[in-house]
Amino acid sequence: MKSPKSVQLEGSAELSTGHQTATSAPDSLADEVQMPSAPHIDVQGASKTYPNGTVALQPVNLQILKGEFVSLLGPSGCGKSTLLRIIAGLSSSTQGSVHIPAGDRRAFVFQDATLLPWRTVESNAHLVCELEGVDKTERHTRVAEALEMVGLAGFEKVYPRNLSGGMKMRLSLARALALRPQLFLMDEPFSAVDEITREALQDELLRIWGTEGFTSVFVTHNLYEAIYLSQRVVVMSARPGRIEKIFDIPFDFPRSPALRSAPEFTALSAEIGEFLRKGANS
Ligand code: ADP
Ligand code: MG
Repeated sequence: MKSPKSVQLEGSAELSTGHQTATSAPDSLADEVQMPSAPHIDVQGASKTYPNGTVALQPVNLQILKGEFVSLLGPSGCGKSTLLRIIAGLSSSTQGSVHIPAGDRRAFVFQDATLLPWRTVESNAHLVCELEGVDKTERHTRVAEALEMVGLAGFEKVYPRNLSGGMKMRLSLARALALRPQLFLMDEPFSAVDEITREALQDELLRIWGTEGFTSVFVTHNLYEAIYLSQRVVVMSARPGRIEKIFDIPFDFPRSPALRSAPEFTALSAEIGEFLRKGANS
C-alpha cells in the first residue's frame, strides 16, 4: 500500500485517506490538485419517510472523501440500509440530495450473496459486468483478476452449492469488484459467516481496498468490525434514524489481526460501545 496522505475536509479534523486512489491517476489528477477536499460522496440533508409513514431517516449530512473507508454503525432499524440505499441510488431520499461524480461506478454487496445456482463461479462473477454491458473480452480479464483478488482462482468451474459460506461471499465480492467500482457499498456483507471466516474476509477486504483505492461505505451492527475496517465510524441511532456522532479511527494501515487484541483497540471499542448503549437507552 502506498503511504497515507492527509487532506482537510471543511469543518472537520484532518482525515487520512489511507492511500492513493486508483481513480486519482492520471486523468483525475487535475481535479485532485484543484479540489483536494472535495468529498466523493456528499449527502446533504437527506431524509427518508417511507410511504407507510415510517420516518426511517432524519435529515443527514455526511461527506465521505475519495478513497476513504467509512462504516455506518448502529442497532437494527436505525436507518443504516436506508442511508446506504440512498447513497447507492437504489432508493430516493424524501428530502435533500446526494452528490456523487457522474459516471462513477457503484458496486453493492449485500448480506446474502444471491448467487445463481445454475451458473458456475466464473459465470456468476460475470453477472454484474454483463448487466452493465461490459464487452466480453474485457469482462474475462476483469473476472479473472477479481477471482484472483478474492482467492477463488482455480474454482472457476465450481457451482455455488459446492462453496462454503465464506467462499460464496468471496464470490459476491468478486462479482462486484469485476465492475472496477469507484464506490464500493456494502450492507452487512459478513453477517452470515462464522467469526473466523468473518475476520479473514475483513482482512481480504482491507487488502483489496488498499490496492484498488475505491471509496468504501460499509454497513454493520458489529462494533469491532466497524472499528477494525474503517477510518471513520458513523454511529447512528434509531427512532427516528439519525447520525449521533462520527468517530475518527486513528490506527494505521495496513492493519493486522493483532490490532484486534491491542489495548488501544479495546479502549476505543469500549468508548464507542458505551456511546452506543447510551443511545440505545435514551
Ligand atoms: P437498518 O438497516 O439500520 O436495520 P433500515 O434502514 O432497514 O434499518 O430501516 C429503518 C427503519 O425503516 C426501520 O424502522 C424499518 O422497519 C423501516 N423500513 C425499512 N424499509 C422500509 C420500507 N420499505 N417500508 C417501510 N418501512 C421501512
Ligand atoms: Mg439493514
